[in-house]
Order: sequence, then structure tokens, then C-alpha cells
Amino acid sequence: MVINPVKGTHDIIAEEANIYSGIEYDCRIVAELFGFQEIRTPIIEHTPLFLRSVGESSDIVTKEMYTFDDKGGRSLTLRPELTAGVMRSIVSNKLYANADLPLKYFYFGPCFRYERPQAGRYRQFHQFGVELVGATSYLQDAEVIILGKRILDSLGLEKVKVSINSLGDDLSRENYRKALKEYFSKNIDSMCEDCKRRLEINPLRILDCKVPEDRPIIEKAPKMSDYLSDAARVHYENVVEALKKVGIEVEQDDTLVRGLDYYTGIVFEFHMAEKDDVGAIGGGGHYKNLLAEIGGPDLEGVGLSFGLERLYYVFQQVNGPQTMDIGPDFFIMAMGEEEIELSFTLADILRSNGYAIEMNYETKSFKSLFKVAERKHAKFAIIIGEEEMTKNQLSVKNLKTQEQTVVKTDDMLMVFKSLLEDYMQDLEKKSLEENK
Ligand code: AMP
Repeated sequence: MVINPVKGTHDIIAEEANIYSGIEYDCRIVAELFGFQEIRTPIIEHTPLFLRSVGESSDIVTKEMYTFDDKGGRSLTLRPELTAGVMRSIVSNKLYANADLPLKYFYFGPCFRYERPQAGRYRQFHQFGVELVGATSYLQDAEVIILGKRILDSLGLEKVKVSINSLGDDLSRENYRKALKEYFSKNIDSMCEDCKRRLEINPLRILDCKVPEDRPIIEKAPKMSDYLSDAARVHYENVVEALKKVGIEVEQDDTLVRGLDYYTGIVFEFHMAEKDDVGAIGGGGHYKNLLAEIGGPDLEGVGLSFGLERLYYVFQQVNGPQTMDIGPDFFIMAMGEEEIELSFTLADILRSNGYAIEMNYETKSFKSLFKVAERKHAKFAIIIGEEEMTKNQLSVKNLKTQEQTVVKTDDMLMVFKSLLEDYMQDLEKKSLEENK
């Protein structure tokens, strides 16, 4: 019986994985420029962690968690996002007491949500994100948004729309919540079941409803901006102004609430400006009470996360299909059994000296070996036949120019170094000419 992949999961293979690594590399480099360090937390956590952080009114907690009892009867959950685990780690390891504040961590990893699979939406997907805990200034909210934007810039995704909103401070949110409850109570009978449930638990979440029939009612709902306290309004304006100063224009979106309950204050999202067919590439916001909620000290934080599948998708859309030059430096073609044995040891010496090597393990015709080497995008072929064996030499062929040279086996490390340097210089020259 054939076993299929689990619905909503996907394999990331070879060249695709290479591009994912490239994207992750850019995320890491930019995060490090902003002073963040990596944190790795477990994929499984105790279920109450997510109930208390992501929140009982979120879709994630109500319908999407992979929750199970382990053999010891503990309720565990495959993390639906990474922020909660990072907060748990900060508390478990008392990081807030042992390191300078603010704490600044970045993370990568798989997340699990039992959602309806569709374009850009998986049941296992991957996130990159950052958390800054111990935030005391509006500048830190702005800085996390700038970090996100700079990652997108470094991936060549300049045409990104940054949407921003403020969920206000406790007082503004309480007043707004009351106003929403009053407004939606009048309309709730015609709204979807989720909205009915949200009205009781957290009416703010109704603003995030995607059911088309509910949208006209939602669009006429009271606006958060009318309920912001003076302090919250000034904070919001300061963030927008700070972003403007570094050349980031934002779209202020009154209906942006995000799907997790822990956000307070500033929230934001990144979307492709032109073709937004997979939804938000990333988003985040400020959280005031999250750490305290799970037993930590009263420290505020701000974070963001990108979906790597979505970054990959828009990266391909914008930069075109990527062909990466990931072929071996040398493909050793051995003509007979004895030659194969020699190649095997040569391959080890060359790899230990930093060269990427492939070889044949069965005798095959020259012609078919050349075809394999070309398909693998090898830079050079090393040919070892009877003559090479007896004379203790190797024939080396540049597979781009077809130039062939003979190299004494004893000299190979020295000669190969300069052959590859010349090869890379030629490549660079060509690409400069092409881009002129
Ligand atoms: P969230 O943790 O809900 O704030 O989501 C942050 C980012 O993760 C989103 O902007 C998406 O890029 C990505 N994301 C969330 N859910 C999924 C999913 N089911 N499949 C793929 N990416 C997702």
C-alpha cells in the first residue's frame, strides 16, 4: 500500500530546500544585525500554554490545535506558533533575571495548525520570527517592523505593503470592546457561528471574520481609532512617524486585529502590494501581558513572524524561478574497476580539502558519464583511464569551455585550486557583462 503525505504537509526537496535555506540565511543575518540571538524551543508544549497565550477566543485554540495525551496522560500540543514557547522558555530559564533587558531572540521552526489546506495555507508550515521582551519604548515597536521590512528588502521583495493598527491600551480596548459588543449584539442573529461565539468571548475577534456575508456588517462597526486613549494615540502616531523617518510608509488599517489573543497596542502585517493571493507574508505586534499570563514578570514585548512557505512563494513570484548552481566542483569519471577504487580514495582527499566531488561507482561508457556530469552541473570532469593510471596523472576537463589539461596526481590540490579560481572569475565576468 502506498502511504501518502499527511494532508496539508509538504516535502521541501533539493533545490527548493536550497532556496528555503537562502531565505533563512537572510532572515538570520538581518536579525543578527539588529542584535537578536537564536533560540530553539521544543515542538511539543503543555496544552495550557497555548490556551493562556494564543487565547481561548482564537481560531487556533478553538479548532486548529494538534492536541493529544501522551502515554503519561499529559495533554500536549504541537506548537501552532513559536511565541508562546519562547515566552515559556524565558520563564522556565529565568532569562529575564540572568540577561540584560530587553531580551532579543529569533527563531525558526515548524508549526502545526489543523486548517483547511489551500494556496499558501498548510497544516505543517514553518515560521521565522523575533521576540523582543522588556520593551519600554515605542521605538522598539518600530524597530521590529523595520527589521521585518529589511528582511523583505534583502530578499528583493521591496513591493510590500505594511499595514498597521493600534489595539490601544487596556482602557481603550475595554471601551472599544463594550462598543463592539453593543453594535454586534444588534446584528448577531444573521452572522456566522464563529462570530456568535466570539461575541461572548472577545468581540474584537469578529473584525477578523472572513465570511463574505458578514463583511458589510463588520465594515460599519465602530472603529478602534475612535476609542484610543490619548496615550495610546500618541504611541501609535510616534511609531508611524519613526517608520516614516527611515523611509517606511505604512497603511493604517482600522480593521487589522490579527488572529492571536495576546496582542495589545501596535499590530502589523506585511502583504505583497500587487498580487496578494496567499494572504499575509508575516505579521506581529506588541503584547503587554503575555509573559505575566504564563507566570513570568510584568515585562512587555513585541514580536513578528514570517511564514517561510509564503516568503518562498512570493520570492519565486518576484525573482522568477531560481536555478541555483549547486553542482559538484569535480565529477570523477573512472573507466574500470581499478580506476573506480582509486577514485574512491581521491574523492575522500579532495572532499577533505573542501571540494564537492561526485563519481561513478560502476563502469559506464564515457558518453553516458559525461551526460550525468552535465546533468549534475559539474564544473569539471576528472577522467581516469588506463593511461592516467599508469602515468600517475589525471585528465581534467572544464565542462563549460571543454578545455582539457593533464595534471600530475601529486600536484592535483595545487592545480585544482587555481582551475576553480579561474572558473569562478570567468563566471563572474560573464554575469557582469550580462548585467551591463
Ligand atoms: P500568525 O502566527 O498567525 O501571526 O502568522 C504569522 C505568519 O505565519 C502568517 O503571516 C503566515 O505567513 C504564516 N502562516 C500562518 N498560518 C499558516 C498556514 N496555515 N500555512 C502557511 N503559513 C501560515
